Amino acid sequence: MARKPVIAGNWKMFKTVSETVRYFDEFKPLVADADHCEILLCTPSPTLTSAVDTVRGTAIQIGSQNHYWESEGAFTGEISAPMVKATGCSHALVGHSERRQYFGETDATVLKRTKSALAEGLTPVVCVGETLEERESNNTETVLATQFLGGLGALTTDEFSRIIIAYEPVWAIGTGRTATPEMADEAHRFIRQQAADQFGSELADSVRILYGGSVKPGNCNSLMACENIDGGLVGGASLKPEEFAKIVHFADQPA
Ligand code: PEP
Repeated sequence: MARKPVIAGNWKMFKTVSETVRYFDEFKPLVADADHCEILLCTPSPTLTSAVDTVRGTAIQIGSQNHYWESEGAFTGEISAPMVKATGCSHALVGHSERRQYFGETDATVLKRTKSALAEGLTPVVCVGETLEERESNNTETVLATQFLGGLGALTTDEFSRIIIAYEPVWAIGTGRTATPEMADEAHRFIRQQAADQFGSELADSVRILYGGSVKPGNCNSLMACENIDGGLVGGASLKPEEFAKIVHFADQPA
């Protein structure tokens, strides 16, 4: 089955509103002809509205990086899925490993955030991935299965049909150390098999699974060529318009 690739950027805690506007002014013409993939940028909360305004009329989509699962309430410092939706965002990043590592995100809270995003009509991009210790102790598949079953596996079939998954080995994020295409494809195949076991082969064949972890213009080509890799979630290399545009264009001509 043909799955349209998604090239997604995660700006993490970088860029102010004025830097955001400048970025998109530079980035938009570089990807104006790119209709072979979906382009998504997950930007910091204070920049969402201006990002949405700046890309209006283009195919570039904007997503949040994190939200709380309640719609509103006494939760100081949090933003909700309805608030994200009201900015004009289409996507919501959920369960990034930095949220899991530093802010207590668990499979159970990933599930709640995913469901609350779906309830607002946002497309969640849900992250899973093992640490270096887990990989080196041969526990990658156990960890992925646990994360899948504890989070995504509890979605309804309809909910699952509306998500994107990102496989991001924690040891490859921001480290310059990328999974080999074989390693990444094997993990993606395993996640797809989990999806097939839980939701059937048709949905498993159609779900997009992105690879994340030090993706750069120099390595994205061979990753994107893998059978089970349907795009990338890019951190550092999404901060520079020309670098991210190169990755977008490489998705059209995998090695
Ligand atoms: C990320 O932030 O999801 C990520 C993969 O970062 P980097 O590309 O910098 O490793």
